[in-house]
Amino acid sequence: SKDYSRLQQLDAAHHLHPFTDHKELRAAGSRIVVRGDGPFVYDSEGNEILDAMAGLWCVNIGYGRHELADAAAAQIRELPYYNSFFKCTVPASVKLAARLVELAPDNINQVFFGSSGSESNDTALRLVRHYWALEGKPEKNIVISRENAYHGSTIAGASLGGMKPMHKQLGGAVPNIVHVIAPYAFEGAEPNESDEAFGLRAARAIEEAILAAGPDKVAAFIGEPIMGAGGVRIPPASYWPEVQRICRQYDVLLMLDEVITAYGRTGEWFAAKTFGITPDTITTAKALTSGYQPLSALLVGDRIASTLVEKGGEFYHGYTYSGHPVCCAVALANLDIIDREALINRVRDDTGPYLSEQLYQKLSGHPLVGETRSVGLMGAVEIVRDKASRLRFEPSGHAATKVRDHAIANGLMVRATGDTIIMSPPLIWTRETIDLAMDRLGTALDLALDDLSG
Ligand code: PLP
Repeated sequence: SKDYSRLQQLDAAHHLHPFTDHKELRAAGSRIVVRGDGPFVYDSEGNEILDAMAGLWCVNIGYGRHELADAAAAQIRELPYYNSFFKCTVPASVKLAARLVELAPDNINQVFFGSSGSESNDTALRLVRHYWALEGKPEKNIVISRENAYHGSTIAGASLGGMKPMHKQLGGAVPNIVHVIAPYAFEGAEPNESDEAFGLRAARAIEEAILAAGPDKVAAFIGEPIMGAGGVRIPPASYWPEVQRICRQYDVLLMLDEVITAYGRTGEWFAAKTFGITPDTITTAKALTSGYQPLSALLVGDRIASTLVEKGGEFYHGYTYSGHPVCCAVALANLDIIDREALINRVRDDTGPYLSEQLYQKLSGHPLVGETRSVGLMGAVEIVRDKASRLRFEPSGHAATKVRDHAIANGLMVRATGDTIIMSPPLIWTRETIDLAMDRLGTALDLALDDLSG
């Protein structure tokens, strides 16, 4: 433990963390996570924590899968690296591309690899603009996104995203990206408006933005099927069909960001299937390797790919680690496990519906809870001061943060974003794991209620 306190000192002295207030971090010190096994991680103090966030929405097969270590080691021994720039390729990336195309919606037959979701969204943005230029319409380059969307942390990713604090720090966003309202009924619907009517209104905000700019100026719309970092905002059922209709009507490409939702989270390989969407691009990362290696895959629909091939000319874009053989080998082993253990069917038919029911039965009656919601193994609990009016606590009260901190202290890793507690556990969770999580979250809510009413 002496070694660990030294590590904590070194962490404070030398390590800048992502999305962190370093003044706060220095005061608190970091928790050192040392090991993972199944649904649990362990810290240097010996605490066992049930990881309801699957790391950062990524460790879908759980921790400690030696099969993935073996796949990585075998690939490193055989060929640790080669690129796919000079008309070369490597077997693992070809096999993975072919495998992803089998799983993807029928109109998707091409894959472009990167190392992260952010990079992959950069690729997607470059590619849709390149597509319209190849089609002789370079002025068709505006991309419509949503407020509170999260599409990554590179300049392009943050510009596509709709997080206000991120935009403030950009010092100039990528031009020609506009943001419209998100389909977040809990906060956005008027008192007498049904969720379905609100879903249509939110979709029509896209149409208004297209008409305001002129359809000949709009390249694409980008959206997460379910907004993740924005607070697991699940759109009303009316939303996506209307978005699809609008994109078709105005010849606007549909870009889905499935960095969180792909590879089983919603009970299908892709949330495109869950919501009946036919996208032109799908950005994926995270659970592609269950987070065991950094890898992203942009799935590219036939419309864009065939123009790229037929018109020819170089697409001046790519990364040293595009199609990295070790990452691709690990992804293949990961997909094998998801397949073999039928994890996605389990989410769709058993644990997904059970989570939804248990969130409702165990937590929705709590005085702090305004709403519970989930799709597959992706869920949220809204924290309110008053249930009936949905009135929130003052931001300075940090109500959701209090719930989160009690949950972690009680052995459950959840995340707080704004007034929402979010969960995105490994797909290996069983009904028993869900029961344990509900117990721990229930206790955390009780303790937070004491703090907030004290
Ligand atoms: N898009 C979505 C929907 C995400 O949730 C994230 C990360 O959380 C990203 C993109 C960015 O991915 P990365 O952090 O791998 O760059």
